[in-house]
Amino acid sequence: MIYPPSSAPAGDWLGDAAAVALLTFDLDAEAPVLAAGEHYAADLSAMSHQAYGPRVGVPRILDLLGAYGLKATFFVPGVTAERWPRTVERVLAAGHEVALHGYSHRPLPDMSRDEQARDLERCLGALADLGVEPEGYRAPYWRLTRETLYLLPTCGILYDSSLMDDDRPYRLHLGGEQIAELPVHWSLDDWEQYAFLPEPDIGERIENPRDVARLWTEELDAMRKTNSLCVLTCHPFLSGRPSRLRAIEDFVQFAGECTDVRFSTASELAKLVL
Ligand SMILES: [Zn+2]
Repeated sequence: MIYPPSSAPAGDWLGDAAAVALLTFDLDAEAPVLAAGEHYAADLSAMSHQAYGPRVGVPRILDLLGAYGLKATFFVPGVTAERWPRTVERVLAAGHEVALHGYSHRPLPDMSRDEQARDLERCLGALADLGVEPEGYRAPYWRLTRETLYLLPTCGILYDSSLMDDDRPYRLHLGGEQIAELPVHWSLDDWEQYAFLPEPDIGERIENPRDVARLWTEELDAMRKTNSLCVLTCHPFLSGRPSRLRAIEDFVQFAGECTDVRFSTASELAKLVL
Protein backbone atom coordinates (compact mmCIF):
# COMPACT_ATOMS: atom_id res chain seq x y z
CA MET A 1 0.00 0.00 0.00
CA ILE A 2 1.43 3.37 -1.02
CA TYR A 3 0.41 6.17 1.32
CA PRO A 4 -2.33 7.41 1.45
CA PRO A 5 -4.62 4.39 1.60
CA SER A 6 -7.99 4.63 -0.11
CA SER A 7 -10.43 6.43 2.13
CA ALA A 8 -13.97 7.80 2.08
CA PRO A 9 -15.82 10.40 4.16
CA ALA A 10 -17.44 9.23 7.38
CA GLY A 11 -21.16 8.74 7.84
CA ASP A 12 -23.04 11.23 10.04
CA TRP A 13 -20.81 11.07 13.13
CA LEU A 14 -21.40 14.66 14.30
CA GLY A 15 -25.21 14.72 14.50
CA ASP A 16 -26.19 18.00 16.17
CA ALA A 17 -22.77 18.47 17.79
CA ALA A 18 -20.10 20.94 16.69
CA ALA A 19 -17.33 18.60 17.88
CA VAL A 20 -17.02 15.17 19.47
CA ALA A 21 -14.65 14.36 22.36
CA LEU A 22 -13.25 10.89 23.07
CA LEU A 23 -11.57 10.16 26.40
CA THR A 24 -9.03 7.42 25.72
CA PHE A 25 -6.57 5.82 28.13
CA ASP A 26 -3.62 3.69 27.03
CA LEU A 27 -3.15 1.24 29.90
CA ASP A 28 0.53 0.65 29.13
CA ALA A 29 1.76 -0.11 32.67
CA GLU A 30 5.16 -1.91 32.44
CA ALA A 31 4.77 -2.94 28.77
CA PRO A 32 6.76 -0.05 27.16
CA VAL A 33 9.81 -0.43 29.43
CA LEU A 34 9.80 -4.23 29.13
CA ALA A 35 9.60 -3.78 25.33
CA ALA A 36 12.55 -1.35 25.50
CA GLY A 37 14.70 -3.92 27.31
CA GLU A 38 14.10 -7.12 29.29
CA HIS A 39 16.66 -5.95 31.85
CA TYR A 40 14.01 -3.50 33.12
CA ALA A 41 12.21 -6.46 34.72
CA ALA A 42 14.93 -6.29 37.43
CA ASP A 43 14.83 -2.48 37.68
CA LEU A 44 12.35 -1.90 40.50
CA SER A 45 12.33 1.88 40.09
CA ALA A 46 11.40 1.69 36.41
CA MET A 47 8.85 -1.08 37.00
CA SER A 48 7.21 0.70 39.94
CA HIS A 49 7.01 3.97 37.99
CA GLN A 50 4.95 2.12 35.37
CA ALA A 51 2.92 0.10 37.92
CA TYR A 52 1.59 3.36 39.36
CA GLY A 53 -0.85 3.30 36.41
CA PRO A 54 -2.80 0.15 37.24
CA ARG A 55 -2.23 0.42 41.02
CA VAL A 56 -3.20 4.05 41.61
CA GLY A 57 -3.98 5.83 38.34
CA VAL A 58 -6.76 3.60 37.03
CA PRO A 59 -8.88 3.57 40.22
CA ARG A 60 -8.67 7.38 40.40
CA ILE A 61 -9.51 7.76 36.71
CA LEU A 62 -12.51 5.42 37.15
CA ASP A 63 -13.69 7.56 40.09
CA LEU A 64 -13.36 10.73 38.00
CA LEU A 65 -15.24 9.24 35.03
CA GLY A 66 -17.91 7.89 37.36
CA ALA A 67 -18.38 11.29 39.02
CA TYR A 68 -19.11 12.87 35.63
CA GLY A 69 -21.11 9.90 34.29
CA LEU A 70 -18.69 9.46 31.36
CA LYS A 71 -17.69 6.32 29.46
CA ALA A 72 -14.15 6.06 28.10
CA THR A 73 -12.10 3.72 25.93
CA PHE A 74 -9.10 1.90 27.43
CA PHE A 75 -6.48 0.53 25.01
CA VAL A 76 -4.77 -2.38 26.77
CA PRO A 77 -1.55 -4.17 25.71
CA GLY A 78 -1.73 -7.95 26.12
CA VAL A 79 1.21 -7.81 28.55
CA THR A 80 -0.83 -5.49 30.79
CA ALA A 81 -3.93 -7.70 30.57
CA GLU A 82 -1.82 -10.64 31.78
CA ARG A 83 0.00 -8.73 34.54
CA TRP A 84 -3.00 -6.72 35.79
CA PRO A 85 -6.18 -8.73 35.06
CA ARG A 86 -8.06 -7.36 38.10
CA THR A 87 -7.43 -3.80 36.90
CA VAL A 88 -8.85 -4.57 33.46
CA GLU A 89 -11.84 -6.26 35.14
CA ARG A 90 -12.47 -3.09 37.15
CA VAL A 91 -12.45 -1.04 33.96
CA LEU A 92 -14.95 -3.45 32.39
CA ALA A 93 -17.14 -3.57 35.49
CA ALA A 94 -17.42 0.23 35.37
CA GLY A 95 -18.86 -0.09 31.86
CA HIS A 96 -15.94 1.27 29.83
CA GLU A 97 -14.74 0.00 26.48
CA VAL A 98 -11.56 -2.11 26.34
CA ALA A 99 -9.70 -2.27 23.02
CA LEU A 100 -6.44 -3.63 21.58
CA HIS A 101 -3.04 -1.97 22.00
CA GLY A 102 -0.77 -4.77 20.70
CA TYR A 103 0.63 -7.52 22.90
CA SER A 104 4.23 -6.54 23.64
CA HIS A 105 4.06 -2.77 23.00
CA ARG A 106 7.02 -3.12 20.61
CA PRO A 107 6.92 -0.64 17.69
CA LEU A 108 5.30 -2.42 14.72
CA PRO A 109 7.79 -1.10 12.11
CA ASP A 110 10.55 -2.98 13.99
CA MET A 111 8.69 -6.30 13.58
CA SER A 112 8.37 -8.68 10.61
CA ARG A 113 4.96 -9.42 9.14
CA ASP A 114 4.84 -12.75 11.00
CA GLU A 115 5.87 -11.13 14.28
CA GLN A 116 3.13 -8.53 13.86
CA ALA A 117 0.53 -11.23 13.15
CA ARG A 118 1.64 -13.15 16.27
CA ASP A 119 1.61 -10.01 18.39
CA LEU A 120 -1.97 -9.23 17.33
CA GLU A 121 -3.07 -12.81 17.92
CA ARG A 122 -1.53 -12.88 21.41
CA CYS A 123 -3.15 -9.55 22.28
CA LEU A 124 -6.56 -10.85 21.17
CA GLY A 125 -5.97 -13.99 23.26
CA ALA A 126 -5.00 -12.04 26.38
CA LEU A 127 -8.16 -9.91 26.18
CA ALA A 128 -10.33 -12.94 25.32
CA ASP A 129 -9.14 -14.52 28.59
CA LEU A 130 -10.86 -11.60 30.33
CA GLY A 131 -14.02 -12.00 28.26
CA VAL A 132 -13.28 -9.04 25.96
CA GLU A 133 -14.15 -9.07 22.24
CA PRO A 134 -12.41 -5.86 21.22
CA GLU A 135 -13.81 -3.66 18.45
CA GLY A 136 -10.88 -1.26 18.14
CA TYR A 137 -7.11 -1.10 17.80
CA ARG A 138 -4.42 1.47 18.56
CA ALA A 139 -0.81 0.83 17.52
CA PRO A 140 1.90 1.19 20.20
CA TYR A 141 3.46 4.66 19.86
CA TRP A 142 0.83 5.29 17.12
CA ARG A 143 3.25 3.64 14.68
CA LEU A 144 0.88 1.64 12.51
CA THR A 145 2.02 -0.48 9.55
CA ARG A 146 0.30 -1.74 6.41
CA GLU A 147 0.71 -5.34 7.62
CA THR A 148 -1.17 -4.87 10.88
CA LEU A 149 -3.74 -2.48 9.36
CA TYR A 150 -4.86 -5.13 6.84
CA LEU A 151 -5.09 -7.78 9.57
CA LEU A 152 -7.53 -5.70 11.64
CA PRO A 153 -10.79 -6.39 9.75
CA THR A 154 -9.96 -10.11 9.67
CA CYS A 155 -10.10 -10.04 13.50
CA GLY A 156 -13.49 -8.31 13.64
CA ILE A 157 -11.94 -4.92 14.40
CA LEU A 158 -14.18 -1.97 13.40
CA TYR A 159 -11.78 0.92 13.89
CA ASP A 160 -8.18 2.02 14.26
CA SER A 161 -7.05 5.07 16.23
CA SER A 162 -3.38 5.62 15.27
CA LEU A 163 -3.18 7.85 12.16
CA MET A 164 -2.75 11.63 11.99
CA ASP A 165 -3.76 12.80 8.51
CA ASP A 166 -7.06 14.41 9.52
CA ASP A 167 -8.83 15.71 12.62
CA ARG A 168 -12.15 14.19 11.57
CA PRO A 169 -12.89 10.47 11.37
CA TYR A 170 -13.07 8.72 8.01
CA ARG A 171 -13.49 5.28 6.47
CA LEU A 172 -10.43 3.31 5.35
CA HIS A 173 -10.87 0.86 2.46
CA LEU A 174 -8.74 -2.23 2.95
CA GLY A 175 -9.26 -4.50 -0.03
CA GLY A 176 -12.87 -5.64 0.21
CA GLU A 177 -13.17 -4.52 3.84
CA GLN A 178 -13.48 -1.15 5.51
CA ILE A 179 -12.79 0.13 9.00
CA ALA A 180 -13.18 3.53 10.63
CA GLU A 181 -10.13 5.67 11.37
CA LEU A 182 -10.37 7.89 14.46
CA PRO A 183 -7.32 10.16 14.03
CA VAL A 184 -5.07 11.25 16.87
CA HIS A 185 -2.37 13.87 17.46
CA TRP A 186 0.59 14.29 19.82
CA SER A 187 -0.77 17.62 21.10
CA LEU A 188 -3.68 15.75 22.72
CA ASP A 189 -1.45 13.05 24.26
CA ASP A 190 -0.15 13.29 27.84
CA TRP A 191 2.98 11.31 26.87
CA GLU A 192 4.46 14.40 25.20
CA GLN A 193 3.73 16.40 28.36
CA TYR A 194 4.68 14.18 31.25
CA ALA A 195 6.65 11.09 30.12
CA PHE A 196 9.87 10.84 32.09
CA LEU A 197 11.06 7.30 31.50
CA PRO A 198 14.39 5.53 31.96
CA GLU A 199 15.12 5.46 28.23
CA PRO A 200 15.68 9.08 27.15
CA ASP A 201 14.27 8.46 23.68
CA ILE A 202 10.88 7.45 25.11
CA GLY A 203 10.37 10.51 27.29
CA GLU A 204 12.07 13.14 29.41
CA ARG A 205 9.49 15.80 30.18
CA ILE A 206 7.51 17.06 33.13
CA GLU A 207 5.20 19.93 32.15
CA ASN A 208 2.85 21.97 34.36
CA PRO A 209 -0.62 20.32 34.30
CA ARG A 210 -2.33 23.75 34.24
CA ASP A 211 -0.56 24.54 30.97
CA VAL A 212 -1.47 21.09 29.66
CA ALA A 213 -5.16 21.57 30.52
CA ARG A 214 -5.08 24.89 28.66
CA LEU A 215 -3.46 23.28 25.61
CA TRP A 216 -6.16 20.60 25.50
CA THR A 217 -9.16 22.85 26.14
CA GLU A 218 -7.97 25.40 23.54
CA GLU A 219 -7.71 22.63 20.96
CA LEU A 220 -11.22 21.39 21.76
CA ASP A 221 -12.59 24.94 21.70
CA ALA A 222 -11.09 25.57 18.25
CA MET A 223 -12.38 22.21 17.05
CA ARG A 224 -15.95 23.43 17.61
CA LYS A 225 -15.35 25.79 14.66
CA THR A 226 -13.77 23.14 12.41
CA ASN A 227 -16.25 20.37 13.40
CA SER A 228 -13.47 18.03 14.44
CA LEU A 229 -12.90 14.95 16.56
CA CYS A 230 -10.93 15.56 19.77
CA VAL A 231 -9.24 12.31 20.85
CA LEU A 232 -7.69 12.93 24.25
CA THR A 233 -5.10 10.23 24.98
CA CYS A 234 -3.85 9.74 28.54
CA HIS A 235 -1.75 7.11 30.27
CA PRO A 236 -2.75 6.17 33.83
CA PHE A 237 0.90 5.94 34.97
CA LEU A 238 1.31 9.58 33.89
CA SER A 239 -2.09 11.26 34.25
CA GLY A 240 -3.14 9.33 37.36
CA ARG A 241 -1.01 11.65 39.49
CA PRO A 242 -3.05 14.19 41.50
CA SER A 243 -2.45 17.48 39.69
CA ARG A 244 -2.54 15.77 36.30
CA LEU A 245 -5.88 14.18 37.11
CA ARG A 246 -7.09 17.72 37.71
CA ALA A 247 -5.98 18.62 34.17
CA ILE A 248 -8.26 15.86 32.82
CA GLU A 249 -11.05 17.13 35.07
CA ASP A 250 -10.56 20.69 33.73
CA PHE A 251 -10.88 19.32 30.20
CA VAL A 252 -14.01 17.33 31.09
CA GLN A 253 -15.60 20.33 32.80
CA PHE A 254 -14.83 22.62 29.86
CA ALA A 255 -16.26 20.10 27.38
CA GLY A 256 -19.32 19.65 29.60
CA GLU A 257 -19.95 23.41 29.57
CA CYS A 258 -19.90 23.41 25.76
CA THR A 259 -23.45 22.35 24.90
CA ASP A 260 -22.33 21.64 21.31
CA VAL A 261 -19.67 19.07 22.33
CA ARG A 262 -20.69 15.41 22.61
CA PHE A 263 -18.72 12.76 24.45
CA SER A 264 -18.53 9.27 22.93
CA THR A 265 -16.64 6.04 23.28
CA ALA A 266 -14.45 5.11 20.32
CA SER A 267 -16.59 2.10 19.48
CA GLU A 268 -19.87 4.06 19.46
CA LEU A 269 -18.32 6.68 17.21
CA ALA A 270 -16.81 4.11 14.84
CA LYS A 271 -20.25 2.60 14.23
CA LEU A 272 -21.60 6.03 13.19
CA VAL A 273 -18.58 6.58 10.93
CA LEU A 274 -19.16 3.25 9.16
ZN1 LIG B 1 0.97 2.61 24.62
